[in-house]
Amino acid sequence: MGILTGKTAVVTGSTSGIGLAYARAFAGAGANVVINGFGAPADIEKERAAIETEFKVKAAYSPADMTKPAEIAGMIALGETTFGSVDVLVNNAGIQFVSPIEEFPIEKWDMIIAINLSSAFHGIRAAVPGMKKRGWGRIINTASAHSLVASPFKSAYVSAKHGIAGLTKTVALELATHKITCNCISPGYVWTPLVEKQIPDTMKARNMTKEQVINDVLLDAQPTKQFVTVEQVAALALYLCGDDASQITGANLSMDGGWTAE
Ligand code: NAD
Repeated sequence: MGILTGKTAVVTGSTSGIGLAYARAFAGAGANVVINGFGAPADIEKERAAIETEFKVKAAYSPADMTKPAEIAGMIALGETTFGSVDVLVNNAGIQFVSPIEEFPIEKWDMIIAINLSSAFHGIRAAVPGMKKRGWGRIINTASAHSLVASPFKSAYVSAKHGIAGLTKTVALELATHKITCNCISPGYVWTPLVEKQIPDTMKARNMTKEQVINDVLLDAQPTKQFVTVEQVAALALYLCGDDASQITGANLSMDGGWTAE
């Protein structure tokens, strides 16, 4: 028996990176999971099937596009009809775009606000009635060090992440007496396939070694000079699902190697 046996977790943006690690950690604790995100259908099916065989739970896939409110509500409905409930909701899907503000494409701004912020509103809105009815729930939002501090050229991302920190506090207060907690996790640089793939191009563009790219570009902001791992982020999310975390709500939990302490 895991701490989530008999429960269902929906994780947005879980076809890769941090989201996939959340889904696997929850499945390892006994939850049935709904995974979501983009990718090649064969790759997604491989991950879904691996969760079922490795952890002896059920896993469903929702192709919901996080820019589409009706599809987000449909993803929550899929969890409820397939497994009977949505007890844990992790709003994790996110994208990045880097540009000076005066050149920032309007459609990129709209898309980042939609995926990184509004999708969490739509998911929470759809999942809360069931959580209230059952008297238990865990809502976890993947924010970022950029929910606390800014970097230049990331106006949409920083705005969305500050927004999700505010949404987290508001939802926590609204649900405080319902045994439903709402928190956000704010990682610094996390070693995901996305980050790894940037290294060769950056080495070429800046004429740097791999070590220079990692320490002087990627980890410049991170005092430990080490990446956070997806497993570490997922372990914190799993902790938030347990009884020991029932009094943690409305919190913004940093896991950033000291970045925001500076
Ligand atoms: P990733 O690119 O590996 O994963 C992003 C996921 O979101 C993928 O599954 C992708 O398919 C999905 N996605 C993108 N657009 C979508 C859409 N419209 N609808 C549904 N799914 C969509 O990235 P990651 O590094 O694992 O990032 C996950 C979250 O963690 C994001 O919110 C990101 O902002 C946050 N974060 C990442 C880092 C980092 O260094 N990697 C640091 C802090 C915060």
